[in-house]
This record gives sequence, C-alpha cells and structure tokens, in this order.
Amino acid sequence: MLTGPASGDGGPTEADWAAAVAAVRGLSAEARVLLICHVNPDGDALGSMLGFGLGLRRLGVRRLQATFPGPPELPESLRWLPGADLLVPAVEAYPDPDLVICFDAASESRLGELVDRLDTAGAALVLDHHASNTRFGGIHLVDPRAAATSVVAGELLARLDVPLDAEIAVGLYVALTTDTGSFRFEATTPAVHRLAARLLATGINPGDISRRVFDTRPFGAVQLFGEVLLRARLEPAAAAGHGLVWTYATLDDLARHDQRPYVLEALIDSVRCTAEADVACVLKQVAADEWAVSMRSKGAVDVSRVAVALDGGGHRFAAGFTGRGGAEEVVGRIRARLDEALTAH
Ligand code: 5GP
Ligand code: MN
Repeated sequence: MLTGPASGDGGPTEADWAAAVAAVRGLSAEARVLLICHVNPDGDALGSMLGFGLGLRRLGVRRLQATFPGPPELPESLRWLPGADLLVPAVEAYPDPDLVICFDAASESRLGELVDRLDTAGAALVLDHHASNTRFGGIHLVDPRAAATSVVAGELLARLDVPLDAEIAVGLYVALTTDTGSFRFEATTPAVHRLAARLLATGINPGDISRRVFDTRPFGAVQLFGEVLLRARLEPAAAAGHGLVWTYATLDDLARHDQRPYVLEALIDSVRCTAEADVACVLKQVAADEWAVSMRSKGAVDVSRVAVALDGGGHRFAAGFTGRGGAEEVVGRIRARLDEALTAH
C-alpha cells in the first residue's frame, strides 16, 4: 500500500477503496469516462489526472476525456505531459458521462462550469488530499495525509493492477514534486519517497522533468517578477508578530510584459522566502475587482483557516481564495483573520 492505515485518521476506508475499484471495474466497454481537475490546473491536478487517465487507457477504457473548467489553456510548463491527448475543452466534455472522476478539487466550486457533471454522471468519484474537502460527489478517496492527489491516484492504480510505466509515471511524478515543493515540504514522508522511487524506476528523467516544470520561464516573466517583488510589503506586526509579506500583480502588469496569467503561479515561491514573515500572500488580478489569492505559511499560522473563512480552501501551509474589491481591501480581510488562525504550539 502506498498510503497509511485505512481508517481512523480521515483517509479512505477499505470500503471507499472497494467502491472506487468497483466503479472502474464495472465500466462497460462502451462507457464514457470524464476526468476533471480543478480550475487553473497545477502540476498535481493535471499530473494526477493525466497519469490516472493513461492508466485507465491501459485498462481498455476507450471513451475517455480529460478536462478542466475555464479556457482550455495550460502553462507551457505542463503542456507537454504524456496523456495531454486526452484533453478536451470544457465545452466539449461529455454532458452525461457514465463515470466522472475529479482530481485535486477540494470543493465543487473548483470545478467551475463542469460542476453539473456531478449530477448528470452515472457515478462521481473524487480523488483528493485537501483536509478542507467538502465531501462532494459520491465515492470519496480523500486522504488529507497524502502529500499530493497523485499519491491517491497511484494507490488506486495499484489496486486496479495497472503497472506503472514511464508515461503514467511522468504525470504522477510532476504531481508529487509540485505539491511537495520538490521534496522540501513537511508533507515529504517516507511514503512520498517510496512512491517517487517506484516512479523513477520506470526510467523517467527527474532533471529534465524539473527543468521543464519549475525552472523555465520567459524573460518577460523574469522582469515582471522583478517589478512585482519590488512592490512587496512587509508587515512584521501582523499575525500577532509572526509577520506578513504580500504583493500583487495586475492585469496591466501582465499586459506590459506580454505575459499570460499562469506565469504568476510561481511568484509566491519568491515571496514566501522572506525571513521576517511567517505568512506570504500574492494577489493575482483576474478581473477589475477580483483577485486569485495565494497564501503560504511557515507554520505559525494555519492559512487554510483564513482561506476557508474567506470562501476558499487549501492546506495548513498553502491555501487560497478569490478576493473581491481593491488589493488593500482584500489584504485587510486577510490581516483581520490571521490572529484567529494562529496554530497552537
Ligand atoms: P495556490 O496558491 O497554489 O493556487 O493554491 C494553494 C492551495 O490552495 C491549493 O491546495 C489549492 O487547491 C488551494 N486554493 C487556491 N485557491 C483556491 C480557491 O480559490 N478556492 C479553494 N477552495 N482552494 C483554493
Ligand atoms: Mn494537490
């Protein structure tokens, strides 16, 4: 087994695993399967979905689509993943699949316009690892102890007797490295390294994968980061003295540097290294008065509590939400929630 004990601490029970295996094994030869991952897919969402999708293909599932809400656009860093040929734009997704499988989405809202498939599908299976998962859908494989959704996906593939091959492994590896910060975060357990070892044993090239996913960006993005980092603000007194550092990037910033919004996903990593702040926030403008907010914590603050209080979600050390109003206003709301989100030490 790739994950820990089957019950008692919030992970899937043996009954959950059995239901998931039965849902896949029970598919007829003509069954249509729709895979959905969360809006603005990251490496875990997309890598888990495509890796698992390739596994379903190996099982003989022929009518298989993978999709995500919003425009059918992916960052260059993820476009090359094996299984990308499974992707269809959301508007072309099966309206009433026999089985829908959701990846890395903590709540229905993360499925955007595809949320109706939870009702129109014959069955809905949810693979996720967010403690804040709202238990939407019918069959839940939600393991808050798993470092990435790909840990859950890898376990389900194993239980379906799908052998790992290099194509499947690339997606699951990208997912694992994304959500563990390339094996740097607390979530990097022995189980993570055991799965990584099995994935690497298929012959995939970790150097090449990491370069493509994490270490490649257009020069315009490098300059955009410089500008946005220069305007970062440090508030040492925030979060009861644990400190807050934050910045924002506007649509105009993107336009001036001729960059797409997804280049901003890596920005939080340059902000959160600030020694003087436990909490880091990046506000990414998505419309006139709307911001996609990313939050990170070094441990003193449980940022998922702030995010959930503001209608978002995530994990203790990494969370997000959609903020409305001016940037200062949104940060004001975060600041007000930080004290109550202090973790007990
Ligand atoms: P990121 O900052 O990398 O976009 O997201 C960090 C974590 O917060 C991820 O686990 C992601 O699923 C969660 N998250 C980010 N934005 C939102 C949001 O708007 N709603 C919810 N429910 N979760 C979010
Ligand atoms: Mn994830």
